[in-house]
Amino acid sequence: MAYTANLPTGERVYLANPKEQTKINSSFSSPSQQQSQSYSLSTGKWTVPPTLFKTRNAAIVRIEAAGGQFFLELQRGSIRVLGELPDLMGAEILPLQPESEAEVEDNWQEMPPMRPMSPMRMGNMKMEMGKPESSSLKAKFCPQCGAAVNKSDRFCAQCGNLLTT
Ligand SMILES: [Zn+2]
Repeated sequence: MAYTANLPTGERVYLANPKEQTKINSSFSSPSQQQSQSYSLSTGKWTVPPTLFKTRNAAIVRIEAAGGQFFLELQRGSIRVLGELPDLMGAEILPLQPESEAEVEDNWQEMPPMRPMSPMRMGNMKMEMGKPESSSLKAKFCPQCGAAVNKSDRFCAQCGNLLTT
Protein backbone atom coordinates (compact mmCIF):
# COMPACT_ATOMS: atom_id res chain seq x y z
CA MET A 1 0.00 0.00 0.00
CA ALA A 2 1.17 3.48 -0.79
CA TYR A 3 -0.03 6.79 0.55
CA THR A 4 -0.28 10.25 -0.84
CA ALA A 5 -1.09 13.58 0.69
CA ASN A 6 -1.45 17.11 -0.50
CA LEU A 7 -0.02 19.51 2.03
CA PRO A 8 -1.59 22.91 2.64
CA THR A 9 1.71 24.42 1.52
CA GLY A 10 1.20 22.99 -1.96
CA GLU A 11 3.47 19.99 -1.69
CA ARG A 12 2.43 16.59 -2.79
CA VAL A 13 3.82 13.66 -0.87
CA TYR A 14 3.98 10.06 -1.95
CA LEU A 15 4.96 7.26 0.42
CA ALA A 16 5.45 3.61 -0.38
CA ASN A 17 7.02 0.61 1.28
CA PRO A 18 8.36 -1.72 -1.36
CA LYS A 19 10.92 -4.38 -0.49
CA GLU A 20 11.67 -3.30 3.10
CA GLN A 21 12.33 0.22 1.87
CA THR A 22 10.46 3.38 2.59
CA LYS A 23 10.23 5.43 -0.55
CA ILE A 24 9.15 8.97 -0.27
CA ASN A 25 8.70 11.57 -2.93
CA SER A 26 7.89 15.15 -2.27
CA SER A 27 7.11 17.54 -5.04
CA PHE A 28 6.43 21.19 -4.68
CA SER A 29 5.33 23.52 -7.37
CA SER A 30 4.40 27.14 -7.34
CA PRO A 31 4.22 29.55 -10.25
CA SER A 32 7.83 30.53 -9.62
CA GLN A 33 9.34 27.29 -8.41
CA GLN A 34 9.23 23.59 -9.08
CA GLN A 35 11.04 21.09 -6.98
CA SER A 36 10.80 17.40 -6.48
CA GLN A 37 12.86 15.04 -4.41
CA SER A 38 12.78 11.33 -3.86
CA TYR A 39 14.27 9.52 -0.95
CA SER A 40 14.68 5.87 -0.23
CA LEU A 41 15.31 4.67 3.28
CA SER A 42 15.96 1.19 4.58
CA THR A 43 13.31 0.85 7.27
CA GLY A 44 11.90 -2.62 6.92
CA LYS A 45 8.22 -3.23 6.49
CA TRP A 46 5.86 -0.73 8.01
CA THR A 47 4.09 -1.99 11.09
CA VAL A 48 1.44 0.70 10.90
CA PRO A 49 0.59 3.19 8.17
CA PRO A 50 2.76 6.31 8.24
CA THR A 51 1.54 9.41 10.00
CA LEU A 52 1.83 12.89 8.59
CA PHE A 53 2.13 15.83 10.93
CA LYS A 54 1.94 19.48 10.08
CA THR A 55 4.17 21.56 12.28
CA ARG A 56 4.58 25.31 12.26
CA ASN A 57 7.05 25.43 9.39
CA ALA A 58 7.29 21.94 7.92
CA ALA A 59 5.58 18.62 7.56
CA ILE A 60 6.86 15.58 9.39
CA VAL A 61 6.28 12.01 8.34
CA ARG A 62 6.52 9.35 10.99
CA ILE A 63 7.33 5.86 9.76
CA GLU A 64 6.89 2.99 12.17
CA ALA A 65 8.48 -0.07 10.70
CA ALA A 66 10.28 -3.27 11.55
CA GLY A 67 13.51 -1.31 11.68
CA GLY A 68 12.20 1.23 14.19
CA GLN A 69 10.71 4.66 14.11
CA PHE A 70 11.82 7.18 11.50
CA PHE A 71 10.99 10.82 11.10
CA LEU A 72 11.30 12.68 7.84
CA GLU A 73 10.92 16.38 7.49
CA LEU A 74 9.42 17.76 4.31
CA GLN A 75 9.90 21.34 3.44
CA ARG A 76 9.16 22.92 0.11
CA GLY A 77 9.85 19.79 -1.87
CA SER A 78 12.97 18.74 -0.01
CA ILE A 79 13.24 15.76 2.29
CA ARG A 80 15.42 15.45 5.36
CA VAL A 81 15.77 12.52 7.72
CA LEU A 82 15.61 13.72 11.28
CA GLY A 83 18.21 12.37 13.66
CA GLU A 84 16.17 13.06 16.74
CA LEU A 85 12.58 13.11 17.78
CA PRO A 86 10.91 16.19 16.40
CA ASP A 87 8.83 18.43 18.57
CA LEU A 88 5.34 17.45 17.62
CA MET A 89 3.63 19.47 20.34
CA GLY A 90 0.61 21.10 18.83
CA ALA A 91 1.25 19.50 15.48
CA GLU A 92 -1.76 18.76 13.39
CA ILE A 93 -2.21 15.33 11.84
CA LEU A 94 -2.91 15.46 8.12
CA PRO A 95 -4.78 12.71 6.35
CA LEU A 96 -2.91 10.37 4.02
CA GLN A 97 -4.80 8.91 1.12
CA PRO A 98 -4.22 5.21 0.51
CA GLU A 99 -3.23 4.54 -3.03
CA SER A 100 -2.61 1.37 -4.89
CA GLU A 101 1.10 0.84 -4.87
CA ALA A 102 0.88 -1.21 -8.01
CA GLU A 103 0.23 1.92 -10.01
CA VAL A 104 3.63 3.27 -9.25
CA GLU A 105 5.73 0.32 -8.23
CA ASP A 106 6.29 -2.97 -9.97
CA ASN A 107 4.42 -1.92 -13.06
CA TRP A 108 7.03 -3.17 -15.47
CA GLN A 109 5.46 -4.65 -18.49
CA GLU A 110 6.96 -7.79 -19.78
CA MET A 111 8.70 -7.25 -23.06
CA PRO A 112 7.54 -9.48 -25.89
CA PRO A 113 10.17 -12.01 -26.78
CA MET A 114 12.69 -10.72 -29.28
CA ARG A 115 12.52 -12.11 -32.74
CA PRO A 116 15.74 -13.56 -33.95
CA MET A 117 17.37 -11.24 -36.42
CA SER A 118 17.51 -12.44 -39.97
CA PRO A 119 21.08 -13.09 -40.94
CA MET A 120 22.80 -10.42 -43.00
CA ARG A 121 22.86 -11.27 -46.63
CA MET A 122 26.22 -9.87 -47.53
CA GLY A 123 26.58 -12.25 -50.42
CA ASN A 124 23.91 -10.44 -52.40
CA MET A 125 25.50 -7.05 -52.13
CA LYS A 126 27.36 -6.14 -55.24
CA MET A 127 30.56 -4.33 -54.62
CA GLU A 128 31.21 -1.88 -57.40
CA MET A 129 34.27 -0.19 -56.04
CA GLY A 130 36.37 -1.35 -58.94
CA LYS A 131 34.55 0.55 -61.66
CA PRO A 132 33.81 4.16 -60.69
CA GLU A 133 33.19 4.98 -64.35
CA SER A 134 29.99 2.98 -64.35
CA SER A 135 27.26 5.03 -65.96
CA SER A 136 24.44 3.12 -64.35
CA LEU A 137 21.59 4.91 -62.61
CA LYS A 138 22.97 4.02 -59.22
CA ALA A 139 24.05 6.78 -56.86
CA LYS A 140 27.55 8.06 -57.33
CA PHE A 141 30.09 8.32 -54.59
CA CYS A 142 33.05 10.60 -54.22
CA PRO A 143 36.19 8.54 -54.94
CA GLN A 144 38.11 10.51 -52.32
CA CYS A 145 35.83 10.55 -49.26
CA GLY A 146 33.04 8.19 -50.22
CA ALA A 147 30.24 10.70 -49.74
CA ALA A 148 27.18 10.33 -51.92
CA VAL A 149 27.18 12.92 -54.69
CA ASN A 150 24.77 13.86 -57.44
CA LYS A 151 25.62 12.71 -60.90
CA SER A 152 25.64 16.30 -62.13
CA ASP A 153 27.96 17.58 -59.40
CA ARG A 154 31.38 18.65 -60.51
CA PHE A 155 32.74 18.81 -56.99
CA CYS A 156 32.07 16.72 -53.92
CA ALA A 157 29.95 18.68 -51.43
CA GLN A 158 31.70 16.91 -48.59
CA CYS A 159 35.38 17.29 -49.37
CA GLY A 160 35.51 19.44 -52.48
CA ASN A 161 37.21 16.80 -54.53
CA LEU A 162 36.87 17.37 -58.29
CA LEU A 163 34.61 14.69 -59.67
CA THR A 164 35.89 13.54 -63.00
CA THR A 165 32.79 12.04 -64.54
ZN1 LIG B 1 34.47 13.84 -51.41
